[in-house]
Amino acid sequence: MSKRDYYEILGVSEDADAKDIKKAYRRVAMKHHPDRNPDDEGAEEKFKEASEAYEVLSDEQKRAAYDRYGHEGVNAQAGAGGGGFGDVFGDVFGDIFGGGGRGRGPARGADLRYDLQLDLEEAAKGCKTTIRVPVKVNCGECKGSGARKGTSPINCTTCHGAGQVRVSQGFFSVQQTCPQCRGRGKMIADPCGKCYGSGQMEEQKTLSVKVPAGVDTGDRIRLSGEGEGAPGGGPSGDLYVQIVVRDHAIFQRDGANLYCEVPIGFADAALGGELEVPTLDGRVKLKIPPETQTGKLFRMRGKGVAPVRGGGPGDLLCRVTVETPIKLSAKQKELMRELNESLQHDKHSPRRTSWFKGVKSFFDSFSG
Ligand SMILES: [Zn+2]
Ligand SMILES: [Zn+2]
Repeated sequence: MSKRDYYEILGVSEDADAKDIKKAYRRVAMKHHPDRNPDDEGAEEKFKEASEAYEVLSDEQKRAAYDRYGHEGVNAQAGAGGGGFGDVFGDVFGDIFGGGGRGRGPARGADLRYDLQLDLEEAAKGCKTTIRVPVKVNCGECKGSGARKGTSPINCTTCHGAGQVRVSQGFFSVQQTCPQCRGRGKMIADPCGKCYGSGQMEEQKTLSVKVPAGVDTGDRIRLSGEGEGAPGGGPSGDLYVQIVVRDHAIFQRDGANLYCEVPIGFADAALGGELEVPTLDGRVKLKIPPETQTGKLFRMRGKGVAPVRGGGPGDLLCRVTVETPIKLSAKQKELMRELNESLQHDKHSPRRTSWFKGVKSFFDSFSG
């Protein structure tokens, strides 16, 4: 089926601006609105056609693609055509009718977020903790209805309990959420003395949270139904516990791996030796081979963190840095000089020797 040109459908020129396109869409959509044309089966088709045209021409990117490649250019982006239809409708007609015209089922309570700070150990191994959260819950006195105990909310006098009203605008009318009861269909004649008719009370909820092992900053735990209560008895929202892992004095975590820096003395670095390094499971011995250079990374397999989403534990990577001795006594300095004089650069410091050679040839290249 060949499609009609979008500009032709809306009756605008190809250089029409966004305002003209919106205006034209309103005009065409109103003309073909199914509510206004109950006996005309073609009206709905034309209405949808106009919506599709508007969806493309009101979107700068889609319009540019359409201008260059025609319908082919926007097929991929426009999806099934009806995908963005609801939103388009709300966008254009929302400002005429006050918006919110489409019912969305019973109102659900709001979701809440709680930032939970953990130590690295707690995050890696999992823990149980309790949190206190201020939450709006349904009033116990009136069970969330807002009506005084022993009474019930009455049917709304505006919509007679339907929750929706018909609003006429010009030549057609639409269903709209009742402004009096905001869609609930009920009104409170005699408000509850405890919550003053709101049906909700703020409460400090104490919740226990089980943190699974391996969580990291940015992970979140959903506590289903622990968010805010819904006025009018709808389902409660959820509480999202957002994990924030504190900086650790020794370890930095990167996914499943842990990093730490281990300073060693220069004699140990030269002679080799064994040192104790910390892990999340306590101390372990790390063998340093003789002639270890500063910056060398030692990998300890399986001593990292097992991520919460599965996969085995990562590694602990210890970066050894050689510490230059400070506050030497006169005697120690003397020994150091003696040692230094005994060293032959070529033999004992090959890196230093080759570096100086490089520097020399660099300068020679200027004078040559
Ligand atoms: Zn109450
Ligand atoms: Zn009402």
